[in-house]
Parts: sequence; structure tokens; C-alpha cells
Amino acid sequence: MKTVCDFCKTEYSLDAAPTGPVKCAVCGHTWVVRTPPRRSPILVFIAALCALLAALVFAVAVLYQHQVTEIQAHPLVAEIGDVTTSTDDDGIMHFVVSGRVVNRSDQIYGVPGLVVISYDAHGNVIERQRFMPSATLLDAGHHTDFVHTLSVPTANVDKISVELETLGDDE
Ligand SMILES: [Zn+2]
Repeated sequence: MKTVCDFCKTEYSLDAAPTGPVKCAVCGHTWVVRTPPRRSPILVFIAALCALLAALVFAVAVLYQHQVTEIQAHPLVAEIGDVTTSTDDDGIMHFVVSGRVVNRSDQIYGVPGLVVISYDAHGNVIERQRFMPSATLLDAGHHTDFVHTLSVPTANVDKISVELETLGDDE
């Protein structure tokens, strides 16, 4: 490394960074040699780790934000838990759908009507049946269970889904 006398500007070449002040052989001036900062492998590793961590935190934040947006858009979800059958007075079997409506948000929500949709083997809608769950309000994080018997006979039904009634439904 090189160092220059602050006073007479004589240049000196040094093999290694001096541990103490340097005295000029020409003018007798004394100064402290500033050593250039070294890039220690550990520091480089820590810097890389920090960059990785920052990227990770960013990714998690994006995922979390996505989840928050998703919950804000759909605070309530309807889930089918079980499908059984029951036989009516005429000996015809009907599907009995049970499940729950979950409030995933941190606010109280009114429970909308539910729509049970039955489909045939070709994916065509056989019937859309509306009903109201027992609870009218759901606290944050709470859920309400529902049980509903389909009016159509089981023989025709290939698939069942439950949806929350939305303002967009015009039936
Ligand atoms: Zn000097």
C-alpha cells in the first residue's frame, strides 16, 4: 500500500498497514496511515445473508398482503363438510349437505343466504336451492354450521356445491 506525507508530500510504499503513526524520513512529520476497509469473507457472507433475508421478508410480505386482500374480498367462506343421504316419505333418496360458514376476517359480518347447487354428470346445473343459515351474524373468526336437504333425488345428482348468496345473484 502507499501513503503520502501530509506535510511534504513524499510518497512511501508500505508492505503492510502500520500499527501506529508513521514518521516522515524527509521532514519529520508524523501522521496516521488510514487503511482501506477490508472485505472480510464473514462480512460478505453476512451481507449476502441480509440480502437473502430481505428478499424472503419481501416475499412473505407479498404473500401476506395477497392473503389479506383475499380475505377482504371474501371474508366469509362456505365449506361442505359432509354429504349423507336421507329417504323421504315416498321412499326417494335425497342428499343431505352439511358444512359451515366461516368468518375469516377480524370483523363481525352478517351471514348471507346460502345457495346449494346440484349438477348432473355433464356439469349442468339441475337446481339452485337457497336457504338461510341459523346464525345471522358471525363474530370475527367464528363459524356457523348448516345442514340442508336437497329437493332433487340423489339419482340425478353428480356434484354438489355450496355458495354464499351475493348481491350479484339476480334470481
Ligand atoms: Zn514529510
